[in-house]
Amino acid sequence: MRRFSADYIYTLDDGVIENGIVVTDDYGKILAVTDEKALLDPNIERFKGVIVPGFVNAHCHLELSHLHKKISKGTGLIPFIKEVIKKRVADEEVILEAMKKADEEMYQEGIVAVGDISNQTISASIKEQSKIKYHTFIEMIAFDAAKSSQVIDDANALKSAFKTPSSITPHAPYSLSKDLLKKLTKYCKKTENKISIHNQENDDENFLYRYKDGPFMDFFKEMNIDTDRFKAQSKNSLQTIIPFLPENQHMLLVHNTYTSLKDIYFTKRFNRKISWCFCPSANLYIEDKLPTFEFFKYTDYPITIGTDSLASNQKLSMLQEMKLLQKEIEDISLEELLKWATINGAKFLGFDKELGSIANGKTPGLNLITNIKKGKLTEKSTVQKLI
Ligand SMILES: [Zn+2]
Repeated sequence: MRRFSADYIYTLDDGVIENGIVVTDDYGKILAVTDEKALLDPNIERFKGVIVPGFVNAHCHLELSHLHKKISKGTGLIPFIKEVIKKRVADEEVILEAMKKADEEMYQEGIVAVGDISNQTISASIKEQSKIKYHTFIEMIAFDAAKSSQVIDDANALKSAFKTPSSITPHAPYSLSKDLLKKLTKYCKKTENKISIHNQENDDENFLYRYKDGPFMDFFKEMNIDTDRFKAQSKNSLQTIIPFLPENQHMLLVHNTYTSLKDIYFTKRFNRKISWCFCPSANLYIEDKLPTFEFFKYTDYPITIGTDSLASNQKLSMLQEMKLLQKEIEDISLEELLKWATINGAKFLGFDKELGSIANGKTPGLNLITNIKKGKLTEKSTVQKLI
């Protein structure tokens, strides 16, 4: 049995406890959370700072870990994609080694669960052996409607290689068709299948949907992608795809950098189980632009945080993402920010029975965050994995 105490315990289940004590068994299962002032008990491991549950990284691409520091910054999304396509091919050994290192680093950074995008099966064995819990989203890419049946079959074939939780998902509005979404919705009638889709990561995506024109059309031409079946929609991508996404599945909309207030109001007209995901470091790396965070107050959809991959981030650190968000969103409380980084992601991934909050019976992992001033993270704040 272990007893941890800190200046504050953020349970994210039952409030914040000053000088609280968390009692766990040797495996980290929470046995009690109390505010008893038993500070004289020599068995208490006492820390300066706040104790919070393990972090849930809602969006990552472990497969791209070997591209760390290899992709140019600030070029915009389409050049970024081109560079990733060109550079991602590498020896299996190199990719495996980089993934293992990234997995270990995330664990040391206090991450206990990850929603991870995969295009291949190469990460399957690492996820099986990892101390982190993974949900893998097998990505489908087919702008050409003629290819939708094939990509669903291919995704299902890849999915069968994963022994850890997985589902199939469209990649982004600029790489799907209405036909693919209709077929996916049909597929989702029979199976539980969480969806995680990159949304409005750049403005060219909206332009493509409005006018069937712009840089994406040039990109498709270069890539020999058939666009004949696609028609201009006179509205943003999100407004176009929402009606075709399945009603009965939880879905994560990732990035949302160019999501307008009108788009957000539009989503509310549909009965969809949406969560938002912000990846601010990756947004700055690729587009040098952040979402208008204020807009997202106008929905009650849960917000989650992701690190994205090492192709577009220096470090897979949830604390780093939280620091950035804290700077951008002045009025956010630490408790709310922590919910984005823990319980909301755990709920979306379906891991909340075990993870996401400090509550009896859960095994959420415990992180110590230091150097908090006036209830806010500072540049000097660090994270230490306690259990
Ligand atoms: Zn991504």
